[in-house]
Amino acid sequence: MTTYTNRFTWSKSRDDSFRKCPRMYYFQYYGSWGGWSEDADERTKKIYVLKQLQTRQMWAGKKVHECIKNVIEKIRHNTKTISAQESIEQTLALMRKEFLNSKKEGYWTEPKSCGFFEHEYKLPVPDSEWKNTADHVVTCLNTFFNSNIYRTILQLPREQWLEVEKLSSFPYSGIEVFVMLDFAFREDQEIVIYDWKTGKEEPGNHKIQLACYGLYAVKQWSVKPQQVKTVEFYLASSNQREHYLEEKELHSFRQYLEESVKNMKDLLDDEAANTASEERFAFVNNEKFCQYCNYYKICPRWTH
Ligand code: SF4
Repeated sequence: MTTYTNRFTWSKSRDDSFRKCPRMYYFQYYGSWGGWSEDADERTKKIYVLKQLQTRQMWAGKKVHECIKNVIEKIRHNTKTISAQESIEQTLALMRKEFLNSKKEGYWTEPKSCGFFEHEYKLPVPDSEWKNTADHVVTCLNTFFNSNIYRTILQLPREQWLEVEKLSSFPYSGIEVFVMLDFAFREDQEIVIYDWKTGKEEPGNHKIQLACYGLYAVKQWSVKPQQVKTVEFYLASSNQREHYLEEKELHSFRQYLEESVKNMKDLLDDEAANTASEERFAFVNNEKFCQYCNYYKICPRWTH
């Protein structure tokens, strides 16, 4: 039997969770640990199921990413001619299946299957809203299939391909930092990194994430920061934001990363063993935030 160890690693999503609410972070990275096992206690199993819940907006983003990844992988391996319509239809068919699974709360028996926050917390979402979610996915995918980058990918020589939504990592001061680049390739002397965005445009909001990708690219492909171009592609509006990395951004990112790691580690019981006690992780100040938290029904702030 494989034994898993809960190692301390860093990622932007881990940092986001810690900044939103330390207790939420605890549930996400410590309280849910081992909840997949038959031998786990009931609360740990429950936290593990709640951890997987997603909102319909997150789901839409995930489905767009999955579809684009599949299409790009097919192009990469020349497996067959791609039909945009067929890819979109397959995505919608999968979404219908996942929606039904969530509606009947199938995620309680299969925690890794699709489960919606909206269903678990009985939010009154009209059918028209779910339809809008599906329409949004179709809009985003149509933008991708009609884009210049799609045409570029179709003709991209094999030696220029780098990564397609692959979970990668790089070492930094003794810890592993995880990244997942939506699509990266070489173009002349540059590394180009595409980031598919399905939510609202938030200029400047992704600086840390993009700098993290940049640091990974600099280390992984031995290039200078100025040779790394990131492109945020907002698929709902077709807008794109290109950015060339600067040395000073990498410097700021390193400082940010070190501070983030320190703040997280300061709350641990044992840093080397990466063990934590729930009580040491504070509740978020703003209670309103709890209404949108996966852990609302087990959080002591509301259950005690
Ligand atoms: S319910 Fe509120 S305090 Fe508890 S984990 Fe969620 S956000 Fe944090």
